[in-house]
Amino acid sequence: MRFNFKIIFISILFISYQLKTDCAEFKGKFLQGSFILGKTIPNSKVTIDDKLVRVSKEGFFAFGLSRDRKNNVIIKISNKTGTKLIEKKVLKRKYKVQRIDGLPSKKVTPPPEVYERIKKDNKLIGEARAINTSYDYFKDKFIYPLDKYIVTGVYGSQRILNGKPRSPHYGIDFHAPEGTPVKAMMNGEVTMVHKDMYFTGGTVIFDHGHGISTLFMHMKDINVKVGQKVKQGQIVGTLGQSGRATGPHLDIRLNWFEVKLDPVTILNLN
Ligand SMILES: [Zn+2]
Repeated sequence: MRFNFKIIFISILFISYQLKTDCAEFKGKFLQGSFILGKTIPNSKVTIDDKLVRVSKEGFFAFGLSRDRKNNVIIKISNKTGTKLIEKKVLKRKYKVQRIDGLPSKKVTPPPEVYERIKKDNKLIGEARAINTSYDYFKDKFIYPLDKYIVTGVYGSQRILNGKPRSPHYGIDFHAPEGTPVKAMMNGEVTMVHKDMYFTGGTVIFDHGHGISTLFMHMKDINVKVGQKVKQGQIVGTLGQSGRATGPHLDIRLNWFEVKLDPVTILNLN
């Protein structure tokens, strides 16, 4: 009898340990600017800092941490086994300072007559980024949009344009010749296309599900339409220097809804 009790005790310990560790798994670092892929038991309810997020049929969910995030992340998971609170510390990053000179002054400090245009551009981008679909493409491995390139700008850098401090850079800049074909980084649906936005020029946004979107800017040509499904690796247009650009390059962005994330964190997710 004694022996049986021991086994029961150990089994209970083991089961509770399993529940604890199986409750959620994460891919990605809890670091400022990071994309995080979560997995939990299907049919769980998940909130991130009180924001209810979608959970896929297989239990996947996605979120991200802003560039300057300081407070811990609170993840709440509820399912038939109970409710669990997970608190994660967010590690700080040090960002570069990037000086760019020789930009046309009207592109650094836009003239009042283009304020309306910029407002419209931002509204269109904001609306596309707010889309919340049940696609779960975000859970798969993203690819770089170009084969050959030189990285000329990174996420988070503080920008000083023509000597004036401006908002940080939230993308990765890839330098390559004008006209280079640009590929979709992941399967998705095109949610916005604009040929000529004031700052970003030829701009296209792809939805990968659960609020995760990618955006390409300064495009020369865009050969996809809103509502069109794209496959990873599909040519969606060509690299250009439209909008505020000092030369031909592709600037890519990654978002979790309005939260601007470092695209490298989804490209190098492990
Ligand atoms: Zn850029």
